[in-house]
Amino acid sequence: RSKLSRKNAALLYQPQWQDEHRKKLEMIQSLRSAIDRNELFLAYQPKYDLASLAINGVEALARWQSKEFGWVSPAVFIPLAEENGLIDDLGLFVLKQACKDCKHWLEKGYDIPVSVNLSAAQLSSGMLPEHVFGILAASGLSPQYLELEITESMLMQDQQAIDSQIETLNEKGISFAIDDFGTGYSNLHYLSRFKAATLKIDQSFVRQLDESADNYSLKNYSLVKGIVVLAKTLGLTTVAEGVEDKNTLNTLRAINCDSAQGYFLSKPVTLEDFYVALQNQDSE
Ligand code: C2E
Ligand code: MG
Ligand code: MG
Ligand code: MG
Repeated sequence: RSKLSRKNAALLYQPQWQDEHRKKLEMIQSLRSAIDRNELFLAYQPKYDLASLAINGVEALARWQSKEFGWVSPAVFIPLAEENGLIDDLGLFVLKQACKDCKHWLEKGYDIPVSVNLSAAQLSSGMLPEHVFGILAASGLSPQYLELEITESMLMQDQQAIDSQIETLNEKGISFAIDDFGTGYSNLHYLSRFKAATLKIDQSFVRQLDESADNYSLKNYSLVKGIVVLAKTLGLTTVAEGVEDKNTLNTLRAINCDSAQGYFLSKPVTLEDFYVALQNQDSE
């Protein structure tokens, strides 16, 4: 690139950048009122027991159907909510809805716990246990049917304050899963200190797991196998995320991973379609 074209690029780029910036501000405004306008709802992605291939859990994933912006990915709006003080409200909405829905399928005879993702900011006020207990009481859901997904990086911050909230929730029967395991900067110390029940092995390791393939896959295979052994030794369960094909599924079964999630098994679906999956399983 010549100096001249770089300079031109900079001149041309500015208005575009301002557009982007304006769009972002508009999106924040819109997100602020999304809950009240019923634009936010949940998708459910089942989790399968790898021995029986029965559904043994389900993850609630936030969805935003915006009037102005159409479908917005959580990879976009969750960080926006986090950066703009909206994640507490959004997080409470997700918790309330997930607990209410879970209570409903339990009443229909489906004994399936629900998992909800947490953001770091939701642990910063120290109010999370109180909020969760309030929501459980209001929905009538027993705490053992709620699992909270946190990430490794959340365990590295302000340890004392976070540990005590996790312990309070744990004591009441709420379980925890470490999401995207293997991708955060972490010091594995926390695994022995923290009573997480589940490690969710990140999709980046699970993809291309084929033992017989190239060097890259072989390394992923070894990593996942090692994580499963480590987890078993520590008394933790393992869930593989992002299973996209049958080979991967079979490999995971062969190395005794406990559960799996992924497009090959089921994409995130509406609550209605989740019921259909539960019913289909019944009639098999
Ligand atoms: P996550 O919790 O790790 O969720 C897994 C993501 O991977 C989901 O994306 C899911 O749709 C996608 N996925 C599942 N199986 C497959 C597969 O086989 N292949 C591929 N390529 N992708 C798969 P989604 O729904 O877009 O969510 C992205 C992230 O946004 C979540 O990652 C989570 O960190 C965050 N998120 C979603 N809902 C919430 C929420 O209610 N609260 C918070 N704090 N974060 C949320
Ligand atoms: Mg998750
Ligand atoms: Mg994940
Ligand atoms: Mg993630």
